[in-house]
Amino acid sequence: MAIQRPKGTADLLPDDSLKWQYVEETAKIILGDYQFHEIRTPIFESYDLFSRGVGETSDIVSKEMYDFYDKGKRHMSLRPEGTAPVVRAYVENKLFGPEYAKPYKVYYMGPMFRYERPQGGRMRQFHQLGVEVFGSTNPAVDVESMSLAMDLFKELGLEHLTLVINSLGDSASRIAYREALIAYLEPHFNELSEDSQIRLHKNPLRVLDSKNKKDQEIVQQAPSILDYLSEDSQKHLEQVKEMLDALNIPYTVDSNMVRGLDYYNHTIFEIMSDAPGFGAITTICAGGRYDGLVEELGGPETPGFGFALGLERLMLTLEAEKIDIPNLHELDVYVVGIGEETNVEALKLVQAIRSAGFSAERDYFDRKAKAQFKTAAKLKAKVVLTLGEEELKNGQVNFKVMKNGKESTVSLKEAYQDFEKLFNLKTADMTAFNEFFNKED
Ligand code: ATP
Ligand code: MG
Repeated sequence: MAIQRPKGTADLLPDDSLKWQYVEETAKIILGDYQFHEIRTPIFESYDLFSRGVGETSDIVSKEMYDFYDKGKRHMSLRPEGTAPVVRAYVENKLFGPEYAKPYKVYYMGPMFRYERPQGGRMRQFHQLGVEVFGSTNPAVDVESMSLAMDLFKELGLEHLTLVINSLGDSASRIAYREALIAYLEPHFNELSEDSQIRLHKNPLRVLDSKNKKDQEIVQQAPSILDYLSEDSQKHLEQVKEMLDALNIPYTVDSNMVRGLDYYNHTIFEIMSDAPGFGAITTICAGGRYDGLVEELGGPETPGFGFALGLERLMLTLEAEKIDIPNLHELDVYVVGIGEETNVEALKLVQAIRSAGFSAERDYFDRKAKAQFKTAAKLKAKVVLTLGEEELKNGQVNFKVMKNGKESTVSLKEAYQDFEKLFNLKTADMTAFNEFFNKED
């Protein structure tokens, strides 16, 4: 039996990767507008980075790590998320130093690995685009980061999106809330799911996040974290809301929303799609503030804010909203060569066209003209150049503009000398020009 790809992974074939490239290029432009610069960290890291950074009791660390011992018996893990590695790099490279801009802003894009049960939009190797901002507690940082994600979605044409925010408060708020939540949940202990029973004392906030129906019923009546926020936390949340309003970004507050990673405080948010044809509402982007994480990982006390956006889920959302993605790699020219004797000239021609900065493809099988034209149409070539015995003898080539069917004969010399000029001249849309002059008459 032939070997198959591992469960929960995907082969991105060229038709898909064209779409991915479009999304990535669009994202890079927006990230540039916001002055985020790219950071690339290793695909694997010390296991301890995640157990300390993401939290021992999180699903990611307790169940989903792709960890292994290397030949030097070091405990390593394929990265399950991007924030802990970026924080490690921030500390290790002393990016808090005076020579670096503040706040320090980076983004990453790449594969993450989690040992999960694969299903729609849930994979073992998936991809995230994430941003991190270090060094500012200003709620404007929270709001601009959310706005960046919304801008990207809007630019891609997505419409069915909901922004949900919440506050997890500072550590004093959370300790008070934790106690109240445990006190509320304890009498319901026997009705809780097994997972939630375990979480009740280890990490009670995660019970709020349970996907179990009965758990969800119980937490409906649970105390709200919003009633336990310290004055500072309340003020931070109010400012975030005010700024979202100022930018006319619609949002809802869900006091039962928590995040799967343990490092968050103050603002957290999720962006979900409720596109028809997508089934249940799905989170595409999630993040929040993590003011204690840099210190936790050995750096100086530094506030932080970040989010991660699941690219597979984003692609599914684009599909659900039936958004056409433009092809960034359209074919400019297809060279049809009729007869074996045109082989060398066809070679010279495609190479000259490529050197002039256009994309070119040709036939390699000495096929009939009709078959070659069919291929040109399939590849959506803008122009087809045809070389036959006759053209070759006269040093000419037939130039056909596919969108309007216009054909003309041009000299090969002209094509070799300045292909760009020739291409622009022949493909320029004359309709608007003609209409203008006809009206003047
Ligand atoms: P979930 O509740 O769906 O498990 P999470 O809280 O584990 O999500 P995060 O760690 O916040 O997710 O990751 C941010 C985003 O990355 C998610 O909103 C989602 O779009 C994407 N993502 C997370 N896990 C996976 C996965 N296994 N496969 C594909 N995308 C994923
Ligand atoms: Mg998860």
